[in-house]
Amino acid sequence: MVDKLITKYSSLLESDSFIPTKARRASLTPLESLIGIILSQNSTDRNAWRALENLINYYGGRATAEKINNTDLRVLESLIKPAGLYRSKARAIKNLVSVLSEEELISLDVKELKEKLASVRGVGPKTIDVFLASIRGVPTFPIDTHIRRILYRLGVIDKKTEKYENIRSAVMSQIPPNKLLTTHYVLIIHGRSICRARNPRCPECPVEDLCEKRGISSRQIAPSPKTPNLKYCDGLR
Ligand code: SF4
Repeated sequence: MVDKLITKYSSLLESDSFIPTKARRASLTPLESLIGIILSQNSTDRNAWRALENLINYYGGRATAEKINNTDLRVLESLIKPAGLYRSKARAIKNLVSVLSEEELISLDVKELKEKLASVRGVGPKTIDVFLASIRGVPTFPIDTHIRRILYRLGVIDKKTEKYENIRSAVMSQIPPNKLLTTHYVLIIHGRSICRARNPRCPECPVEDLCEKRGISSRQIAPSPKTPNLKYCDGLR
């Protein structure tokens, strides 16, 4: 199933649609990338990037933990305003730089880094997983609202409210570690373009034949022709 989605969206995978991809191209530091990921919560990537640029430009081209620590909260809020939810995000960024050094973001082992990031108020499991997967290269699977919705529609999870960890485990048991990040990206692209929350464009969907909820836009839920499976068909087939 996932191989079909990767084929459909392969040309978009290296586009600037994702903050971590853009951050890598712009040679941002791990701290700047993580701030970008925080800014992208409940925001468009374009607005999150504008906010991140404001921040980096304000600091003369490099946002460091020390500079952010020394910045008044109100100033920080105004700089990141384009990302929305700027009050809570500014507090999360302040909390982050008070708990972790830039060096630790790179050098801590994964378990310790996860624990430390989880202790930062305003930094949730998705943000942690996006950072670990895209910046530290850890095989993990971040889940956002698009992915949760699509996995539910495809029948991979039984309910939309399934716990984050359960979804992550289910996907990680079926997708090879080196394809997890790509799978994360293609599902987001799919959710933004075709499997939208309202009126999904099922006739254009590359996995329509495998989907339990195809035709959901017309409120007719067709039976699934086979058991959905995210198994990735890596290799020649
Ligand atoms: S068939 Fe429709 S509901 Fe199912 S994954 Fe495709 S777009 Fe989404």
